[in-house]
Amino acid sequence: MEPFVKKNESYLSIDSWMTQFPKLVAGFTTKNGGTSKGYFETLNLGFHVGDNLTNVCSNREKVAELLQIPLNAWVGAEQTHGTFLKKITKKDRGTGSDSYDNAFKGTDGFYTDEEGILLTLCFADCVPLFFIAPERRMIGVAHAGWKGSVGLIANKMVKAWGQEGIKPEQIFVAIGPSICEKCYIVDQHVINFVEKSLEVGAALSYNLLTEGQYSLNLQDLNRLILLASGVPEENILWTKLCSSCDQEEFFSHRRDKGKTGRMMSFIGWKEN
Ligand SMILES: [Zn+2]
Repeated sequence: MEPFVKKNESYLSIDSWMTQFPKLVAGFTTKNGGTSKGYFETLNLGFHVGDNLTNVCSNREKVAELLQIPLNAWVGAEQTHGTFLKKITKKDRGTGSDSYDNAFKGTDGFYTDEEGILLTLCFADCVPLFFIAPERRMIGVAHAGWKGSVGLIANKMVKAWGQEGIKPEQIFVAIGPSICEKCYIVDQHVINFVEKSLEVGAALSYNLLTEGQYSLNLQDLNRLILLASGVPEENILWTKLCSSCDQEEFFSHRRDKGKTGRMMSFIGWKEN
């Protein structure tokens, strides 16, 4: 069953988690229902893509209203395809929510165990990874393009939570809408890094198409990395939704040749 369920034109939510864990808000936006124009039609939530700032802020306000979590409770990052993770507390609220200038620099993942904070990251093909350890009220989100994936950002989140006393078996992960293996053709350079990312089994994530051309399944690569990190298979949900195949719902950096908007992953605990 598809874990990301459409709630209205503007977002999907991880329904099974939200049913299981009251007060959790977790999901992924679509490209629809906003005010942006041109390449960014219509719900672009990325500040850094060349869109009109007023429209991006208006789009963000719209999502804040839909999720009923005010913009000044969000945090956002200047994502750099790295693997730096930042633990967020209430004093960080609002950072990077209404401006790119004050976003967390060089950060590709967030986690927190506090309420009243919405962790957000922006996407157009890269893999959004959602984490929750319900017993400890810990939640997190990470941005895994090919560089973040082979940099083992998924494993780094599991390790960071290990430092907090959370075992891999206590962690649940949802792999969100992103580019599928049919749409994601990469060269030998990328595959060399993929091969080095896992001791065994990396080859399960890609197929040779022609000499030097491979089809890479980034969702599956992250699933394999999570399994190797000790997260049980039954704790992992993954989507069938592809940002590049589904032109009606999603922006796609590859399909739109770099001129496009951004969707947003979000996860947070609502305050009482
Ligand atoms: Zn696709």
